[in-house]
Amino acid sequence: MSHLLHRHLRRTPPVAASASGITLRDQQGRSYLDASGGAAVSSLGHGHPEVLAAMHAQIDQLAYAHTAFFTCQAAEELAQRLANDAPGDLDHVYLVSGGSEAMEAALKLGRQYYLEAGQHSRSLLIARRQSYHGNTLGALAIGGNAWRRRPFEPLLMEVPRVAPCFEYRERAEGQTSSDYTAALLAELEQCILAHGPHNIIGFVAETVVGATAGAVPPTFGYFRGVRKLCDQYGILLILDEVMCGMGRTGTLYAFEQEGVLPDLVVLGKGLGAGYQPIGAVLARAHIAQRLRDGSGAFQHGHTYMGHPVAAAAALAVQKVIQRDNLLGAVATRGATLRRLLRQAFGDHPHVGDIRGRGLLQALELVQERSSKTPFDPALALHAVLKETAMACGLLVYPMGGTIDGQRGDHILLAPPFTVSDSELADITGRLSDALTAALSRIDKPSASARR
Ligand code: PLP
Repeated sequence: MSHLLHRHLRRTPPVAASASGITLRDQQGRSYLDASGGAAVSSLGHGHPEVLAAMHAQIDQLAYAHTAFFTCQAAEELAQRLANDAPGDLDHVYLVSGGSEAMEAALKLGRQYYLEAGQHSRSLLIARRQSYHGNTLGALAIGGNAWRRRPFEPLLMEVPRVAPCFEYRERAEGQTSSDYTAALLAELEQCILAHGPHNIIGFVAETVVGATAGAVPPTFGYFRGVRKLCDQYGILLILDEVMCGMGRTGTLYAFEQEGVLPDLVVLGKGLGAGYQPIGAVLARAHIAQRLRDGSGAFQHGHTYMGHPVAAAAALAVQKVIQRDNLLGAVATRGATLRRLLRQAFGDHPHVGDIRGRGLLQALELVQERSSKTPFDPALALHAVLKETAMACGLLVYPMGGTIDGQRGDHILLAPPFTVSDSELADITGRLSDALTAALSRIDKPSASARR
């Protein structure tokens, strides 16, 4: 029996033994194509020599120094680089150890920003119904993932919620995309007015929705409209780019494709690309300035924040992405992946939607395509598919459907930015076999997905 408390207490997963490039190997000698980078983490694949060298050098020089006493060169350089590369005046960086911690920091930073101006009534954050912002209590409260929230509801703060921007599921028959977008913005405005702008800290959203709904990009103009409302009513725009940021969608930040500048940006996953646990909040100048001019301290902190080795790893990741022009590669390889997915699954009777941006793509699986009827959640098709994929030597990130039919089972693909065309073809082929096997396991014989 393992003494580790695993995610599933009655099952011990295979033991990961080694990894390089896009391949992970377990202790039994089986190898897996890591097509999801874990959960959209490993943007440079595994074992990148330059990132490893930067980490080794940092460990040899300085493994740890508490931020109450010192800063360190790696953290300073990383912050400078992130500030230089971020658009506009998003040039203040707070380093933590992961996405949930970064979300918590952003929420508190938002609250303190208004407190410094004597606006004590500001305590509300508006968020969206389908969203995931992390598993710590503040981040979980902001997220709308019913399954993750349910056991902990009594511990969670109240969060006013609006509809997600999710065309495939929520745009009405006959409604144009721009009418749908306008309706979403009207709902957000109503929500702001109903709660009173003077009570609101900000609006929180994932620019491209990650795991909860599966790589859902916003409609054209949605975030521009959101930004306008935030400005009009004097509330902050807080974008969660833990999954979609750091190049995953083909630009360093997904919001760059939306033509908006948020007040706070939350980062994780691809920032350290799996080499070290690290997250960050980027804040615009007006936020940092108000705290600097006011109390002079952000009332927050963690023991491992600004960790030298984590910062060195993230800095090396950034350098490789820039030097090897990997943002351009994401756009090109993302287009290839999309084409392969359309070829393989475009007519599949149980693939309702293929969507995403760059190298963040998802398939939504449905019982019936025209009505978009999801599979019975009790079948747990996503979990079955994860298993059949692993049996085919493929890692994909699965998510379940919802009983209310707001979405079906889906899987996420997030291969490394360095993935080759032949690896993309291999991923698609194995996924096709895995889907056929999964459907027959839940007793849904279907024509082979590969055409
Ligand atoms: N925000 C988003 C959009 C995420 O996808 C995640 C993790 O999946 C988080 C926040 C939380 O990040 P972490 O798991 O590093 O705490």
